[in-house]
Amino acid sequence: MLNYNGIPRWKNVKSTEFSNHIWQEANSVRNAHQLQEVLLDSTPPNMLKEINKGLELAPMVSRATPYLISLIDWDNWINDPIRRQFIPIESEMEPDHPMSVLDPMGEQKDSPTPGLVHRYPDKALFLVTHVCPVYCRYCTRGYAIGTDTDTVSKQSLGPTRARIESVIRYLEKNSDIEDVVISGGDAFRLQPEVLTKVCSELLNIPHIRRIRIATKGLAVLPMKITSDHGWTNAIIDLADQARRLLKQFSIQTHFNHPKEITGYTTEAMKILFSAGVQVRNQSVLLRRVNDSDEVMLTLIKMLSDINIQPYYVYVGDMTRGAEDLRTSLDVAISIEKSIRGRTAGYNIPTFVVDLPEGGGKRDVHSYESYDRERGIATFKSPVISNSREYRYYDPISYLSKQGKSYWNFTAK
Ligand SMILES: *Cc1c(COP(=O)(O)O)cnc(C)c1O
Ligand code: SF4
Repeated sequence: MLNYNGIPRWKNVKSTEFSNHIWQEANSVRNAHQLQEVLLDSTPPNMLKEINKGLELAPMVSRATPYLISLIDWDNWINDPIRRQFIPIESEMEPDHPMSVLDPMGEQKDSPTPGLVHRYPDKALFLVTHVCPVYCRYCTRGYAIGTDTDTVSKQSLGPTRARIESVIRYLEKNSDIEDVVISGGDAFRLQPEVLTKVCSELLNIPHIRRIRIATKGLAVLPMKITSDHGWTNAIIDLADQARRLLKQFSIQTHFNHPKEITGYTTEAMKILFSAGVQVRNQSVLLRRVNDSDEVMLTLIKMLSDINIQPYYVYVGDMTRGAEDLRTSLDVAISIEKSIRGRTAGYNIPTFVVDLPEGGGKRDVHSYESYDRERGIATFKSPVISNSREYRYYDPISYLSKQGKSYWNFTAK
């Protein structure tokens, strides 16, 4: 289904092995040295140095599945949209925006108990684990996700029994909460027993009506759905259990580029869709990955074809170490304008900015003011605060000369 045999090290790997999640996990690539061992003579010149330096500067550790490695066009690796998301290289990195922070959405201050973010009136975000099957360079939870790096030591959010219990007690006591997003980290990293226990307990709380499981897994390791029967059956059983209670149980996933959708994805979706498990997608708008009308429309149409509903497109968060991946707010506004109407309205995602300092998600068009010269947009967010104003800042490299000089930015 996929030409992974073009990757020298996997030339003789059988398709039964490649399509097994255990093989994928065991052969995941974490650093430049391992990548070289996989690519052998096809290793691009300069790659080792570029990646080693990139990793030193990055706030996230790196990890990519063989599946992703095989989707990268190594003859054009610098511009490859998948390489850009997972493997940092020194020469493309940009200085962080002066207003960027490690926890751009201020999640740590909205946490009543460790690993629970309660920001909105009737919904809460449960960060049940701090590990993922891959690590994205632009992750908004650089403060917690993955292991420590040269530049960041992480807050610990492992799926310990005590932490899970304390979150469940909080949710039980707060009857305003109807909707729980189980995220992290990635739910692919939870044992089926833990997933079942946590979700069954939540389904048993009468005021909780909706549960969403967040995983990027479908996009980076679809073989988990087709080969990890314990995990997939746990999801299907929970969806059945929820349906009997007239409650919602769904998956939220994270595809960013059409290249991430393959025959493996289709096989995985056949299982989930035919079992009645609803899947929605949240993309992040990323520079030189999906910041064009064409790529975004193709992505949306391909997701729709396999019954994954495009839900949100997020403007990049103001996190550290991934400035070269952010776009301006204007790019989001312009792509949205171009694609609306090109397919079913329910498959056109809402373009949002998740405001720094905990302002929450807002439609990109709903700014109060937008100073395009300095790249400063202001927003109100009545659901969070009636008086506060929140700001989102465009990357400095998008600004005019005057705008750049305002930020005292010396271009590379
Ligand atoms: C995104 C988010 C949610 C879910 O928001 P929806 O707009 O309903 O998808 C809940 N809590 C927090 C803290 C979030 O960031
Ligand atoms: S899968 Fe999600 S939580 Fe994990 S590194 Fe990527 S963006 Fe962060």
